[in-house]
Amino acid sequence: FPVDRIRNFSIIAHIDHGKSTLADRLLEMTGAIAKTERNKQVLDKLQVERERGITVKAQTASLFYQHRGQTYLLNLIDTPGHVDFSYEVSRSLSACQGVLLIVDANQGIQAQTVANFYLAFEAQLTIIPVINKIDLKNADPDRVEKQIEKIFDIPKEECVRISAKFGTNVDQVLQEVVKRIPPPTAKVEEPFKALLFDSTFDHYRGVVANIALFGGYVTKGDRIVSAHLGKMYEVNELGVLRPDEQPTERLYAGQVGYVIAGMKDVKDAQIGDTLYLHKHPVEPLPGFSPAKSMVFAGMYPTDQSEYTALRRAVEKLALNDSSVTVQRDNSLALGAGWRLGFLGLLHMEVFIQRLEQEYNATVIITAPTVPYKAVLASPKLIKEYREEVVTIINPAQFPEKSQVVEYQEPMVMGTIIAPDEFTGKIMSLCLLCNRHDAGYQLAELIKIEFLLNGKPVEELTTVVHKDRAYSTGKAMCERLKESIPRQMFEIAVQAAIGSKVIARETIKAYRKNVLAKCYGGDITRKMKLLKKQAEGKKRMRLIGNVEVPKDAFMNVLKRK
Ligand code: GDP
Ligand code: MG
Repeated sequence: FPVDRIRNFSIIAHIDHGKSTLADRLLEMTGAIAKTERNKQVLDKLQVERERGITVKAQTASLFYQHRGQTYLLNLIDTPGHVDFSYEVSRSLSACQGVLLIVDANQGIQAQTVANFYLAFEAQLTIIPVINKIDLKNADPDRVEKQIEKIFDIPKEECVRISAKFGTNVDQVLQEVVKRIPPPTAKVEEPFKALLFDSTFDHYRGVVANIALFGGYVTKGDRIVSAHLGKMYEVNELGVLRPDEQPTERLYAGQVGYVIAGMKDVKDAQIGDTLYLHKHPVEPLPGFSPAKSMVFAGMYPTDQSEYTALRRAVEKLALNDSSVTVQRDNSLALGAGWRLGFLGLLHMEVFIQRLEQEYNATVIITAPTVPYKAVLASPKLIKEYREEVVTIINPAQFPEKSQVVEYQEPMVMGTIIAPDEFTGKIMSLCLLCNRHDAGYQLAELIKIEFLLNGKPVEELTTVVHKDRAYSTGKAMCERLKESIPRQMFEIAVQAAIGSKVIARETIKAYRKNVLAKCYGGDITRKMKLLKKQAEGKKRMRLIGNVEVPKDAFMNVLKRK
């Protein structure tokens, strides 16, 4: 395909401003999908995306578009909107020359509109502002155009007004893509050079790598090498995404597509790696800075016999989401598991949900924590850790106060952009704001442990600021009391700092007899109840002699 008739672009926006809906319309208009009622958010393939109505994973689709008697190849990359997933956004952008920046005609510019604008601006991409939802009664496109002019310095004449829902002016969007976004600069005469910008794992075929070709071409059967890892593979299959995979014989400079090349190990497909032809090495493309985990949590199988199956699932899912970090972990109480690092809490929830839905796994997740640092005092400990300053990502391993000179906590520099009248709501907005690392600062931290009838519940161990220790201890004990059903004996729920108990709740004894409810001889009903109870037990974990429902941990930790 001639490079000057290729356009690689992405859609970026604040959440719910209509990226996926616009993507659907673009797919329909170019005939990539049929125009039916059922085709909603076609690029949101994951169950978790459909359920939550959010895009988690960037998807790619190649569209053919007729413009002034010529056929153009438009490669569209849909991106997630939430700040937790901005890593996916920057990855997608590196394969593009331009973006459609969608702004809701009613809501105007929002936090993620600004954050995404900067990602595109820094990548020096052509930005086409698209004002969406002009069909809404309260739509005020004039005001939004002024905002765009004022905040982004883009003349209002450059804005396109559309309704993605009803298809109004969507054709104009495609025309503007062709007119304004430059074609990629890749040349077919150059040696093959491709950026591996995304990958998915297929249960049967192994790693499916999404690539953008920055030069040359690649043919089925070619032997390719990953510059970063220096591993060689043979291309078994390649093709374009329309949005489903459509195999072709060759991919050319400027194109975006997929290759399957016998990458079996999850670590083989390093996002950001450069691919070249065997014996024709090229200067690698500048790599990505790896995603930095902000939140860590321990994860264990509910049953150790499921460890191997879960390990495979985690490895595969982590391949689909290279922003998750995985480290093996062991807990006395829970056995073998992992310490996982996430970009944020939403990211963590989505990862767990995907494990459960796509891999049928049931897991226990411990309290999420940020990575703290401790400056060690005792030479013995320093020798043990081989370091003076240690980073702790597991609260259970938090060194005692007597062993450290000081604790430090990570700080972030957050940017809040909001009109004056919303100052009061800024605190809640903070969760959505863009942020970047701002190093570590001295902090007075305390480790709180929770005990059930004297047995510590390791997964609940929490590190908090000194002045919040009592309130946190009390609140978590109360929530534990709510989340653990009464049992045949009394249960003491305690929060402790070292050996000092700082809060206590009591769960009174109770004989749980569900059968008492059904008199008479309805045996099937009894069987059903017994079965339900047995299933419930599977979701329980024994701590000492206390049965704790698996979701109690989530409940206790969630409602902070
Ligand atoms: P995304 O989070 O940016 O991908 O947003 P979606 O495409 O999922 O859209 C969010 C919501 O806005 C959905 O309920 C859409 O039906 C709705 N929506 C999208 N475009 C329009 C539009 O042009 N007009 C109206 N009225 N609703 C729209
Ligand atoms: Mg979406």
